Amino acid sequence: MANQGNLSINSENIFPVIKKWLYSDHDIFFRELISNGTDAITKLKKLDMMGEYSIPEENELKIVVSVNDKDKTLRFVDNGLGMTAEEVEEYICQIAFSGAEAFIEQYKDKTNDDQIIGHFGLGFYSAFMVADRVEINSLSYKEGAKPVHWDCDGGTTYEMEEGTKDTVGTEIVLYLNEDSLEFCNEYRAKEVIEKYCSFMPIPIFLKNETAEPQYETIPEEEVTEKDTVVENIVEPEETEEKENEDGTKETVVKKPEQHKAKILKRPVALNDIHPLWTKHPNDCTEEEYKEFYTKVFHDFKEPLFWIHLNMDYPFNLKGILYFPKFNNEYDTIEGTIKLYNNQVFVADNIKEVIPEFLMLLKGVIDCPDLPLNVSRSALQNDGFVKKISDYITKRVADKLSGMCKTEKESYEKYWDDINPFIKFGCLKDEKFCEKMKDYILFKNIDGKYLTLPECLEENKEKHENTIFYVTDEIQQSQYIRMFREEGTDAVVLKHNIDQPFISHLEQKNEGVKFLRIDADLTETFKEEVSEDDKKALEEDAKTLTELFRKALNNEKLELKLEKLKDEQVSAMVTLSEESRRMQDMMKMYGMAGMDPSMFGTNLTLVLNANHKLVQYVLAHKDQQDDENVTMICQQLYDLAVISHEQLNPEAMTKFIQRSNQIMELLTGQM
Ligand code: ADP
Ligand code: MG
Repeated sequence: MANQGNLSINSENIFPVIKKWLYSDHDIFFRELISNGTDAITKLKKLDMMGEYSIPEENELKIVVSVNDKDKTLRFVDNGLGMTAEEVEEYICQIAFSGAEAFIEQYKDKTNDDQIIGHFGLGFYSAFMVADRVEINSLSYKEGAKPVHWDCDGGTTYEMEEGTKDTVGTEIVLYLNEDSLEFCNEYRAKEVIEKYCSFMPIPIFLKNETAEPQYETIPEEEVTEKDTVVENIVEPEETEEKENEDGTKETVVKKPEQHKAKILKRPVALNDIHPLWTKHPNDCTEEEYKEFYTKVFHDFKEPLFWIHLNMDYPFNLKGILYFPKFNNEYDTIEGTIKLYNNQVFVADNIKEVIPEFLMLLKGVIDCPDLPLNVSRSALQNDGFVKKISDYITKRVADKLSGMCKTEKESYEKYWDDINPFIKFGCLKDEKFCEKMKDYILFKNIDGKYLTLPECLEENKEKHENTIFYVTDEIQQSQYIRMFREEGTDAVVLKHNIDQPFISHLEQKNEGVKFLRIDADLTETFKEEVSEDDKKALEEDAKTLTELFRKALNNEKLELKLEKLKDEQVSAMVTLSEESRRMQDMMKMYGMAGMDPSMFGTNLTLVLNANHKLVQYVLAHKDQQDDENVTMICQQLYDLAVISHEQLNPEAMTKFIQRSNQIMELLTGQM
């Protein structure tokens, strides 16, 4: 006799809410129903282990999802422990439902930003997001249990009666609503299952009830009990006439008689029930790590190295973090950290659990202890979650520092790839910074890797507490050459993260100053000059300033005249470190169009008094209107600027025109 009941006292408004709830995540019911199935199977296995039930030998524990686009149904079938009528009444009608109710009560006033992580907790009733009607057919493992059939049309009442299911387990049938028909498409279903269930611990199979059956032919001896044989095939013996050496003929067997079987194509599970992170690190090979990486992240570049997290105390956490290879410094670094809860996918990049800088990596983290049915803001304030996040940070820092200590060569080899990540981590996380500070490397212009103390020590005599750096090895090559010739060192810092990072280092290390290689010319590059010479240089500088200002039509031009040791250098520009940082900041905030001189960020032109062209200009100071003098001034200035920054389009056009003009003059064509 059918048993009717009310789902709950004030539930009229619950189904519409469930249906609309989190529109973008409608596919999540797949995960909920499949994980209920895996739970049921896991429980049955436990009962079997405890001797309270004996799973029949031939029973392959599995979940089968069947799609039927004609009937517009989806079926989730498990051979887990099943439910009796009383259990359906209790777990589905009362508990599950009250869970749904509590959920709505809690979240009805919240904005979408504060969704529960992964929506755990609503479970069974998520089926009503896509279905107008849901059926349960279940047979409990309990001795003498009667099958139960439950039917609910999404209103507030349900019907329950004795069913017909004759094998232990549960079948959930969803009659999809018109808006959700996509889910009975085989490929869509496969996509969703792979998204959420790729690593669930029980094999999951997908069946398309309306597709033509597919067959395969295998040798008869390979047929097992699980196969459905549709035809036995005997391939007759093949023979061949062969002529012997003595001319007689003989019949030989080319291929013996073969017995084959045509069977229904064997189903293949969609998931990997033993994902690599669940294994002990000692049991995993390098190949396996790489294969897993490619499979999960679809990244065909090999990862540099990885960290296998494996911890059961004081909390349970397993996972693998990969350091990806970046192609070049322009590659945007974008990682993904996938979070799992007992092999069930929750979401990507949950920043409440995973420190922000770690999201530059690619990895999986499985933490069964996470309280995922709470809101994100609650997670954020959860001390336990903070501990998890601290643990992950610490393990990453330990791995990196350990590598620097014991495998210096590999560490150096990876440095160019991993340094933006480490620097970002130092900026973002005080503890990480503390642990990593002695393992920050600086690559110098000769390609050698030094630590900060080593850099400072090396340059103690020439420029104490100052580190010169290069941001663009090509553009700044003129300065680099001068540095090399003087035996002065500089380090290469060319990533975007380096500017904020050196400011950070300067704050942390009092007195230490980073100067870009073109920020200033230190005394090392200048000849020593007598007092008289100095006076003469100052006089000449005044003259040249006037000349250059006129030639360049720039009344604000700052000019210095120095006797540089390097006679090949005619002119250079310098821009003080502070001014340049200010300029970079303006660029970053989109104020590039503003006049830099407003902030006193003008370039200084440094002329080399030892250079012939500079001497030429000086010697012709009285012929101010001489076209050659003007042209030389302009050309010297542009050449100096090019080593420092890109010419603007207008200046570049003029520079090219003028260069051509100079060559024409050289060849006497003008
Ligand atoms: P939760 O899984 O978090 O307990 P659900 O709403 O998903 O919440 O399920 C409620 C309860 O219904 C489960 O705890 C379980 O007892 C029962 N249940 C649901 N699906 C199945 C199933 N396939 N087999 C056996 N029991 C089930
Ligand atoms: Mg559940």
